[in-house]
Amino acid sequence: MATAGTTVGGTALDRVLGAKTAKALDSALGLSTVGDLLRHYPRRYAERGELTAIAGLEIDEHATVLAQVERVSKRSMKSRRGTIVEARITDGHRSLICTFFNQAWRERELLPGRRGMFAGKVTAYRNQLQLAHPEYQLFTEDADVSSAAEEFAGALIPVYPSAQGLPSWSIAQCVRQVLDVWDGEDDPLPAELRERLGLTGLEAALRKIHRPKDFGEVGAAQERLKWDEALAVQLALARLRGTAQSHPAPVCRRRDDGLLAAFDRRLPFELTGGQREIGEHIAEDLAVEHPMNRLVQGEVGSGKTVVALRAMLQVVDAGRQAAMLAPTEVLAAQHARSLAELLGDLGMAGELGGAENATRITLLTGSLPAAQRRKALLEAASGEAGIVVGTHALIQDRVSFADLGMVVVDEQHRFGVEQRDALRARGGGEVAPHVLVMTATPIPRTVAMTVYGDLETSALRELPQGRSPISTNVVPVAEKPSWLDRVWQRIREEVSAGHQVYVVCPRIGDDEENSGKKKRTKSSTVDDSDGEPPPEDGGERRPPVAVLDVAEQLAAGPLAGLRLGVLHGRLPADDKDAVMRGFAAGEVDVLVATTVVEVGVNVPNATVMVIMDADRFGVSQLHQLRGRVGRGSAPGLCLLVSEAMAGTTTRDRLDAVASTTDGFELARLDLELRREGDILGAAQSGRKSGLKMLSLLRDEEVIAQAREEAEAVVTADPELRAHPGLARMVAEVVDDDRAEYLEKS
Ligand code: ADP
Ligand code: MG
Repeated sequence: MATAGTTVGGTALDRVLGAKTAKALDSALGLSTVGDLLRHYPRRYAERGELTAIAGLEIDEHATVLAQVERVSKRSMKSRRGTIVEARITDGHRSLICTFFNQAWRERELLPGRRGMFAGKVTAYRNQLQLAHPEYQLFTEDADVSSAAEEFAGALIPVYPSAQGLPSWSIAQCVRQVLDVWDGEDDPLPAELRERLGLTGLEAALRKIHRPKDFGEVGAAQERLKWDEALAVQLALARLRGTAQSHPAPVCRRRDDGLLAAFDRRLPFELTGGQREIGEHIAEDLAVEHPMNRLVQGEVGSGKTVVALRAMLQVVDAGRQAAMLAPTEVLAAQHARSLAELLGDLGMAGELGGAENATRITLLTGSLPAAQRRKALLEAASGEAGIVVGTHALIQDRVSFADLGMVVVDEQHRFGVEQRDALRARGGGEVAPHVLVMTATPIPRTVAMTVYGDLETSALRELPQGRSPISTNVVPVAEKPSWLDRVWQRIREEVSAGHQVYVVCPRIGDDEENSGKKKRTKSSTVDDSDGEPPPEDGGERRPPVAVLDVAEQLAAGPLAGLRLGVLHGRLPADDKDAVMRGFAAGEVDVLVATTVVEVGVNVPNATVMVIMDADRFGVSQLHQLRGRVGRGSAPGLCLLVSEAMAGTTTRDRLDAVASTTDGFELARLDLELRREGDILGAAQSGRKSGLKMLSLLRDEEVIAQAREEAEAVVTADPELRAHPGLARMVAEVVDDDRAEYLEKS
């Protein structure tokens, strides 16, 4: 047996709760040990007598509602024998219908005036919110207290993230049973730290979080549990930084007689202040014997490519190679082209007209014809290629380089921490290459400190001169169907004015997709096996519109006569490249595409972007997408077409995107909306780990403080030998969190 702490937390739940309950907890919520259950924290606490605001419920979530029965009725089903009991429950303002099939006796129990907790999935049917087959527990008449939760009399009622078949009150009961026999855990936090920060002990915190006497206890418990999460993440990151620093790196000093100097002399524009400043940091980072690990975030169009190219030239000047990785082959090809353009004869080694000390840019992607690929591989391995451009596969495929000095990763948000680790290990032997990551997604400070906490970060906040403004409008087609015609009209005008247009759709719409569709869309509403007609409204959401359908419809109708192109991820690489090149050359008027145009694509003559079913995209994705227009001298226009109704969170997100082009502000809003949607909700079930207590939005101070503490601890004791408790925390929490955040973004 291990230490007392791990033994208790690790005890399987079936030993305490019995096999049946344990199995339910495991399959519904992924909770299998005592530790898992104790870390399944209440989502909120209800005060006695309080009713849940029904207006705050989200469709499709599994919600727990405290409400009062307003009226109840029973009727026979039309189509076959049987009855439906409908109970209308209310929070005093809005109501919710609970339906029960063939359970006539419910009518006698759900008497008007009675209060209780109701749990189930929220659906909408003809503008009326419903809970189909909810589970419920009525409070005892007089005391207004949950009857099965009598022990909570006088205290707060915890409301747990729940699931079908496992309502909040059942979870509370399981927790009570576990706490009754639980004799605590070793506190992993050193006593000194706990006292200095005034944090509650772990055992007390866990007991209070589940069974608080008042909100004061809740607060103290939350603070302690947040600290655990923040510290575990920061310790892991501090160790990652430490390990990275302990590797030697290729030293690349800046020279003033090399390619970089020649490039700077002939730049057709002035570098912005930000480009210059970050350039200086990078130049210094590259010149020391420890690897650079730097994240550059900069708005779309802020000129990150030049920053990366100047860094790569410093590396090439030192006699080494640089690799540039893009998320897709289209982007890799485009990068190779734009680097070649920027470098001119400085990038044409071995070609006619190449400058004397020129280097060579080699494109290396999986879809190159075999002979070309062999040639590219050879150029990388021989060192003939100073700059190798490819997709992330360059790293996975273990392509060999003569002397890889630096890796540039463009568009970071698709590139997780594991890939970064793999990449650092790529120098061969002990040497780790310098790593420069670039992202156009502005990252709030808290996220930078956690998800990207293994990197130094710098931001390019100003745009180069001459960038045109982008205006964004929501086109609410549910309320104003005729506006869609205006959209197509606008496109025609734009094209007559000599400009080009993107139409972006969420889906491709070919067979391959459809075959997987069945599994993804779940029926979200009442079981209609009783023969009642299925609701028109609360049922399956229609699939988002698809590139292939939209292109066909536009060509046949509203945009007939214009030159349309189609671009999506499943086209063969050659076709993709040809379409992109045709669009860049102005041979295509309207490009109907998926989000493959999201990152990096640069066609200054494109002035309008129409995003179909815009609500199916995330906030930062929309921001990225619209950055494709307004890159030339004409102002850009982005139209967000959506059926989302005014007043819904979905619509709020779109309005937020339309309201500002400040990416940092949007990133903050995005974080906020994502979090808020979670407050009552359902998305929680089945999640085993993750940041449960810590909010990247609200807990900036805790995160910053934890970062300092972690740095101090790891500097003094890199292996955490003197702190087995901390080492255990790190092992438990970290990996899943970051994976999870990255998935969401
Ligand atoms: P992003 O940050 O989105 O990758 P790019 O690097 O593609 O932006 O730059 C967008 C455009 O701006 C390119 O055509 C580039 O040549 C140009 N550019 C970059 N820096 C400057 C600058 N300092 N002044 C003017 N134009 C610039
Ligand atoms: Mg770019």
